[in-house]
Amino acid sequence: MFKLRDEDAAKKIIELIKKENVNLRFMHVCGTHQDTLVRFGIEQMLKDTGVEIRQGPGCPVCVTTADEIADAITLANSGVTIAVFGDMMKVPTPIGSLADAKSNGADVRIVYSIEDAVRLSSEVDKMVFMAIGFETTSPTTAAVMVEDLPENFSVYSCHRILLPALQAIINMGEFHIDGLIEPGHVAVITGTKIFDEFSVKYNIPQVVTGFEPLDLLMATYMLVKQIKEGRADVENEYKRLVKPEGNVKAFNLVNEVFKPVDRAWRGFPMIPLSAYDLREKYDDHNARKIYEDLLSKRAPVKEEIGGCRCGEMLRGIIDPEQCPAFGKACNPRYPMGPCMVSREGGCNIAFRYHGKL
Ligand code: SF4
Repeated sequence: MFKLRDEDAAKKIIELIKKENVNLRFMHVCGTHQDTLVRFGIEQMLKDTGVEIRQGPGCPVCVTTADEIADAITLANSGVTIAVFGDMMKVPTPIGSLADAKSNGADVRIVYSIEDAVRLSSEVDKMVFMAIGFETTSPTTAAVMVEDLPENFSVYSCHRILLPALQAIINMGEFHIDGLIEPGHVAVITGTKIFDEFSVKYNIPQVVTGFEPLDLLMATYMLVKQIKEGRADVENEYKRLVKPEGNVKAFNLVNEVFKPVDRAWRGFPMIPLSAYDLREKYDDHNARKIYEDLLSKRAPVKEEIGGCRCGEMLRGIIDPEQCPAFGKACNPRYPMGPCMVSREGGCNIAFRYHGKL
């Protein structure tokens, strides 16, 4: 059986890339891709090949804005139970973190799924589930929203849509990107066709790929080949799971429950149609609507604390080690930003595998 972690095969692909004699910069947008790149030493292996791979805005916790977390803290401090994924707890904001709110007596619960939050609704007065993630997780939220829900249950949607953010990065033009490595799990839902227009409009090669070391190396080689051959296509390295049309049922369900809205991302100004909010039909379970009066009274909060450079990290401008606080003032125990809190954040991944402190 073909092994996706075969070191000899990895070395052969590296040699093939080297032979192409290029000088290129690619971007991926996925915490799991970053984990694979660092954990298996692929970024090191690529060092002499002339190819550099940067992480973009692909960590759901990281791209959630300080204002959205401050909204959740405000609700928690007002007697609403907040249910979140564990990675969100320690993200600092100028008004503290959800973990701080919990230690001060607010009811903040860590859940593993939206279903957990629905179940817990029977124990509390008002329950809000903070829904985060890209096209991989929005179908799960959508599937629950169409069920009979407890009256006291609502969702604060922080779901994001990947392509508008990629478009924003390219339009901002802070550095040149020669090719994009697209996340296989997003494409399982969306299919590969949604990337076609992007390749045509921006003349940028793309490869959808999986999460094993050889997936990433093959995707890198496929991008190099496209560039050498003067192509800007969408290629699918992850054919074992991704189909051109994606998961039509899941995609339709998302479109039934959610509508695209303009929203800021951490490190970005407002990006048009880059997030999912619940459609009007679900207003009775939309925390952004139910608690609108309360949340509108909260003063906006500053995005970055103490010189944290997560915004630049998420735009692929810097590596973790280029942040002066990395591994010193900022570490997983005392994080200054979400990129150090989340296990999908670039700073957290670098800290774990580069063995700082
Ligand atoms: Fe922010 Fe810490 Fe990362 Fe620096 S090392 S960018 S302070 S999370």
